[in-house]
Amino acid sequence: MKLIDGKKIAETIRQEIAGEVKRITGAGGKVPHLAAILVGDDPASETYVNNKAKACKEVGFDSSTYRFPADVQQEELLEAVDFINRDPEIDGLIVQLPLPSHIDNQKVIQQILPEKDVDGFHPVNVGRMTIGLPSYVSATPHGIMELIMRSGIQTRGRHCVVLGRSNIVGKPMSLLMARNEEPGNATVTVCHSKTQNLKEITSAADILIVAIGQPEFVTADMVKEGAVVIDVGIHRVPSAKTKSGFRLIGDVRFDEVAQKASRITPVPGGVGPMTIVSLLLNTLKASKKEIY
Ligand code: NDP
Repeated sequence: MKLIDGKKIAETIRQEIAGEVKRITGAGGKVPHLAAILVGDDPASETYVNNKAKACKEVGFDSSTYRFPADVQQEELLEAVDFINRDPEIDGLIVQLPLPSHIDNQKVIQQILPEKDVDGFHPVNVGRMTIGLPSYVSATPHGIMELIMRSGIQTRGRHCVVLGRSNIVGKPMSLLMARNEEPGNATVTVCHSKTQNLKEITSAADILIVAIGQPEFVTADMVKEGAVVIDVGIHRVPSAKTKSGFRLIGDVRFDEVAQKASRITPVPGGVGPMTIVSLLLNTLKASKKEIY
């Protein structure tokens, strides 16, 4: 078994991005700029936005955060998105989700110009990805495709089983693996909560991508000998063995599945570190006008 080291791959990509920023600015080009809209004071959202700003700084991007109180009116948010859409200094805009319940998430997302939608959530980007046009792909599936590509995993003609069909992970993953491009060109089966004979299907997978949101759901008897296993899940569970009193686990029972898999992503250190890096890659593409 060989680990797919997301932490190391993410670091390599960060260095590549930082080098590219130096090259662009050295030639008199513009510094890439990512803006974030943050509503309310949810500590997790605050942390995510701060981490994104920190990651921007590390690679030489500019970043700005537009903060609004939890009781902000939807109209005001839509106006803020319009304002950022018109600002030529800003290349990419993300809206930190979830938004308070009185705000319609889709309305806000659809207000973002598709060419600045570096989270890849706008239906125009989702649609373009679906029909194989250049688009921003959302961070987690984008990161997984980078992991697969940079680990030299062959996908063409192989049977890929995607466990989960959410809009942010499972669904785009299945489309990307089935696309007529490399990586891609896999034969894809999508499984969900209504799937019957799940074990039979997962046991036939050459590549098993698990985004089910159930701690250690996938056990060794569900995996084919020599399969590639990508674990998207992330769960915080209590632990007496760590200083912090908790540890992170995935949707896959790592210890036993690692005995059978040829390649596997650990949790933490697999898919997770790729997420912010994917956002940086999309912002760089936006500043270079590579997609639109
Ligand atoms: P969702 O809860 O939105 O989707 C879970 C999917 O799994 C659904 O399609 C659901 O089916 C399916 N499912 C749930 N239970 C079963 C079951 N018993 N058998 C078969 N299918 C089942 O989750 P997400 O896609 O948002 O996230 C999945 C996991 O990935 C979570 O642990 C999340 O924390 C993690 N995650 C990690 C990220 C990272 O950066 N590492 C980023 C995003 C998510 P149905 O559609 O029928 O309900």
